[in-house]
Amino acid sequence: MIHPPQRYIVTSALPYANGPLHIGHLTGAYLPADIFVRMLRMLDNDVAFICGSDEHGAAITIRALKDNSTPQAIIDKYHALFQETFLKAGISFDIYHRTSSPLHHETAQEFFRSLYAQGQFVEEESEQYYDQEAGKFLADRYIKGTCPKCSNPDAYGDQCERCGSSLSPLELINPVSTITGTKPELRKTKHWYLPLDKYESWLRTWVETGVLDGVEHHDPADWKTHVIGQCKSWLDGGLQPRAMTRDLDWGVDVPQEIPGSAGKKLYVWMDAPIGYVSATKQWAADNGKDWKAYWQDPESSLIHFIGKDNIVFHCLIFPAILKAHGQYNLPVNVPANQFLNLEEQKISTSRNWAIWVHEFLNENPDQTDALRYVLTYSPISFAMARCLSLMRIHRS
Ligand SMILES: [Zn+2]
Repeated sequence: MIHPPQRYIVTSALPYANGPLHIGHLTGAYLPADIFVRMLRMLDNDVAFICGSDEHGAAITIRALKDNSTPQAIIDKYHALFQETFLKAGISFDIYHRTSSPLHHETAQEFFRSLYAQGQFVEEESEQYYDQEAGKFLADRYIKGTCPKCSNPDAYGDQCERCGSSLSPLELINPVSTITGTKPELRKTKHWYLPLDKYESWLRTWVETGVLDGVEHHDPADWKTHVIGQCKSWLDGGLQPRAMTRDLDWGVDVPQEIPGSAGKKLYVWMDAPIGYVSATKQWAADNGKDWKAYWQDPESSLIHFIGKDNIVFHCLIFPAILKAHGQYNLPVNVPANQFLNLEEQKISTSRNWAIWVHEFLNENPDQTDALRYVLTYSPISFAMARCLSLMRIHRS
């Protein structure tokens, strides 16, 4: 049975502007979304297909230092490359926006203000590493040391790339600042935390049963089992409050009027996913549409296409932010894809084990459809099953 046309907002993960896209990215978050959106449009649905570049954070400033460049030059380079790559790959976004835009900064600050005014944050002081010579707090990526789990001497403050463990900088043995090579000292700093522990109960009910505030919201049978599985394992482990701000150089400022905001930036949770909203605002302004209808009208369906590394972010943290704000819909589905392997090995940027999409399409300019076909063929059961199951969301 053909369903009556609906309003959809479909997002693909915002690529991070410090390196090119490989075929794993394309297969995971962009092609399946594009196939789904093209189908929705053919069935006369009202669809906004949204994406943009994620342009803030310490990795970009580190990249700029390494390349003897500036953060602005790095993001301009990769934003332009992403736009060109998606165009050549036939990804039919309605808008490809960027988080460095003033509209995005305003939108992310409005989110922060709204949550702050509603008393949704918990203010906490913690000890963080401070580089005395550089005169600043160090982002996790600016700290290197020995991994406590596998003894890798080059582990970062947030992750060990050898054993894959998530780390906190305080766990590193012999921490060193990557800016000055000096040993950092611990200093107190204040940040705003979202108390995810308080939201655990409704998040669990929502993920596991699809029911939110007593209303049936989605059918968990439509969600991929590995997505629900990963959420459950996080929920079973107990959610912790998450810092929504950081001491960073490059990002969206915490609104000035908030006491203690000097030098503080919104952390990725309060920045990148709100890029979906700011992009929608820009698209709506350019096309005479009402952006609020897509995000806030309960009849609209929000769907996030992502890679599996983004599941917790899109299924727990961002929904918690949206609900804390109070006026937004939660996603009806988060079709996350498993990672694509290349000749049975994990694609790796650091080992240069990848096929870069722009290189392939530059060398094979008339092979876009062949590339799309091959990359869709292996996960076709995924892409097509998602289309079919998402069709059934509004089965009433
Ligand atoms: Zn390790």
